[in-house]
Amino acid sequence: MSEFPVGVAVALSPLVRRVLAPNASHMTGPGTNTYLIGVDEVAVVDPGPDDAGHVDAIIGAASAERIRWILLTHTHADHWPAAITLAARTGAPILAHPTREPGLRLDGRLRDGDAIEGSEFRLEALHTPGHAPNHLCFRLVEERVLLTGDNVLDGMWSVISPDRGGDMATYLTSLQRMRAVRSAWLAPAHGHAIEDPRARIDEYLQHRRDRERQILRSIRREPTTIPKLVDRLYPDLIEALVPVARRQVHAHLLKLRDEGAVIGRSSRTVWRAG
Ligand SMILES: [Zn+2]
Repeated sequence: MSEFPVGVAVALSPLVRRVLAPNASHMTGPGTNTYLIGVDEVAVVDPGPDDAGHVDAIIGAASAERIRWILLTHTHADHWPAAITLAARTGAPILAHPTREPGLRLDGRLRDGDAIEGSEFRLEALHTPGHAPNHLCFRLVEERVLLTGDNVLDGMWSVISPDRGGDMATYLTSLQRMRAVRSAWLAPAHGHAIEDPRARIDEYLQHRRDRERQILRSIRREPTTIPKLVDRLYPDLIEALVPVARRQVHAHLLKLRDEGAVIGRSSRTVWRAG
C-alpha cells in the first residue's frame, strides 16, 4: 500500500479504491483521500476540494453511471466542495450527517447506524463527533474496513478546533468508540492506510493524554495565555502550524475547564489552575 500518486485510482482491497486530491498542505498532508467503495455500484466518500481534474479522475475510475452515492465524513472545506460538481455529473445523491454548511444542500441525511446497501457491500455510518460536530466514520462490513475521516490520520495528528465545532472531550469518546469496532485496517482521509487500527488509536489517545498532562503541569507552575503555552510546549513548531497548535491547546483547556481543573475565559486571556 505504498503507492501514492495524485489523481490516479489505487486499489487498496477488492472493494476499496483511493484517489488522492491535489491539495497537499500542512493541514492536509499529502492531500485529501477520496475513497471509491464497490465496483458495480460505487459510493464515493469525501470527493474533496472543487478541482475539475480531481472530479474527472473520480469519474474516470468509476464511470459516471456506476456512482450511486456521494458520502461526506464531515463538512470541512477539504472534504466536500467537489460533491456539487460530482452530483451534477452523475445524478448521485449527496448524503451526510445533518449540517448547515453554506453552499451545500444534502439530498439525504445519515444518522448513527444508517447504512448504504450496494450490490456488493454494506457501508454503515457511525456518528463520531469531536473533530467536527457532524463527523461520520463509515464501516465497510464485508472487509471490516473503517473509514476514519479526519478522526484518525496517518502521519499526523487530528486537529480539534473549537472555532470549527471541535470538542476535545467528545472527540476522545469517539476515539474510544472507534477503538471498540473490530477493524482489519483503517482508511484515513489523509495519509496511507493504517494496518494496525488499535495500535494507532491507542497512540492517538495516549498523545492527547500526554498533551493534556503537559498543559496542566505548565499552568499549575505559572498561569499564562494560550500563545505563551504553545511557545512552551511546542518549541520547534514551524510558523504555519502555530495557529493550529493554539486551537488544539484551546480545545484541551476547554475540556479541562469543564472538568474544573483550570479557570480561563477565552483564547486571549490568562488561564490558571482551578
Ligand atoms: Zn476536517
